[in-house]
Amino acid sequence: MSLPIVAIIGRPNVGKSTFVNRLAGVQTAIVHDEPGVTRDRTYLPAYWCDREFTVVDTGGLIFNDDTEFLPMIRQQAMAALADASAAILVVDGKYGMTPSDEEIAEWLRVQKVPVMVAVNKCESPDQGLVQAAEFWSLGLGEPFPISAIHGNGTGELLDKLISHLPANVDASDTDEIKVAIIGRPNVGKSSLLNAFVGEERAIVSPISGTTRDAIDTHIERNGQKYRIIDTAGIRRKKHIEYGTEFFSINRAFKAIRRSDVVLMVIDALDGVTDQDQKLAGRIIEDGRACIIVVNKWDAVEKDSHTIYEYEKDLQERLHFTEWADVIFTSALTGQRVEKILELVMTAAEEHKRRVSTSVINEVLEEALRWHSPPVSRSGKQGKIYYGTQVTTAPPTIALFVNESKRFNDNYRRYIERQFRQQLGFKGTPIRLLWRSKA
Ligand code: GDP
Ligand code: GDP
Repeated sequence: MSLPIVAIIGRPNVGKSTFVNRLAGVQTAIVHDEPGVTRDRTYLPAYWCDREFTVVDTGGLIFNDDTEFLPMIRQQAMAALADASAAILVVDGKYGMTPSDEEIAEWLRVQKVPVMVAVNKCESPDQGLVQAAEFWSLGLGEPFPISAIHGNGTGELLDKLISHLPANVDASDTDEIKVAIIGRPNVGKSSLLNAFVGEERAIVSPISGTTRDAIDTHIERNGQKYRIIDTAGIRRKKHIEYGTEFFSINRAFKAIRRSDVVLMVIDALDGVTDQDQKLAGRIIEDGRACIIVVNKWDAVEKDSHTIYEYEKDLQERLHFTEWADVIFTSALTGQRVEKILELVMTAAEEHKRRVSTSVINEVLEEALRWHSPPVSRSGKQGKIYYGTQVTTAPPTIALFVNESKRFNDNYRRYIERQFRQQLGFKGTPIRLLWRSKA
């Protein structure tokens, strides 16, 4: 299930990150506790009332003068806006309106997403209304005075915001597995798609997806339905122009977010590239199941070491091969192409699998018996009281401990390895949340 996205836009220093942190609230601590998640993550889970959504901060840009940073902000903002259901333009009520605010607003006015204006740094409610008033002229509707630091005014803004969000789409199509085929241009994505589709032409029906201009393709094998995400993006031939790569990687990010399972396609002749690593990072961050498809295997001159060498390269360059299946295929000859869908099915099942609390605690007890948590120099030791799986897709296990800081990365990895060895979860990332009791 993918949550609606809210893009936070504005020039530097208006308080975007402060605002995002406030929206993400309690969850931030947890997010940072997840192993394997990059620290500078820009997508954060947030909720208001009973509505969940994802906030994306377009910040992190530091430039000194307006003329230089505007195009950059716009590019960031465009990327964030591409898949957002709503946007919040943050401006600085204390400083007042600037030409950059006006320029950003002018651009936002022609976008198709609903936009709200948050006039930040309005600590005093009365004065806030006055400070906010001048931002009516941005032409984006009522400006909301808020204080990201103290939280004043954010309630009204969020009430309005959730009225713009689409209803949480709970998977009515749960029997369908959503698959994203991603990878650099020319690795063979469209050829793979054709190979899947060619088999059973009759039931292929491209229908419009939920996102504008994303076309999904439906296929079926042995009674299992698969929805291949954004096949328009796969088929579209790259017309060379400025920024193509930027948009294609964004398109891939978007497809990843809509999928259950990602087919990460790598060209056997090129091996793993930097862009593949970037895509891999995003797959883990978004918690999607994944299968690594090394395509064009027919074109590789092989001897008995070749597969071994490839696997070694993958392991070194993509840190998640510990759990993702790797398959060597040829879209050209059809070799092992059908096997991909079998792996997809297994990965999707594992991604959604639930393990009982008693089993989790058996694994924990065993793990603790073999290797007890580290003791600090002052004699304090980490204690794990119990664990339970709090959610699926990806499987997420909360561990209730005395103090999460007592557990170093090594120990965390050890526990994660134990879960993997005992519980499997082949094909899906798993998350451990270390929650301090005190
Ligand atoms: P960003 O660059 O837009 O992400 O801005 P930051 O969140 O980093 O904030 C920029 C500065 O504005 C920091 O010094 C914050 O402490 C300050 N700031 C953020 N929100 C508020 C607020 O609600 N009131 C006041 N007075 N200052 C704020
Ligand atoms: P995309 O840009 O990732 O969609 O890649 P395409 O499917 O358009 O393939 C790019 C080129 O690689 C085309 O010339 C294909 O014929 C070729 N190709 C794709 N898959 C294979 C394969 O398995 N083996 C070989 N030898 N060539 C392939």
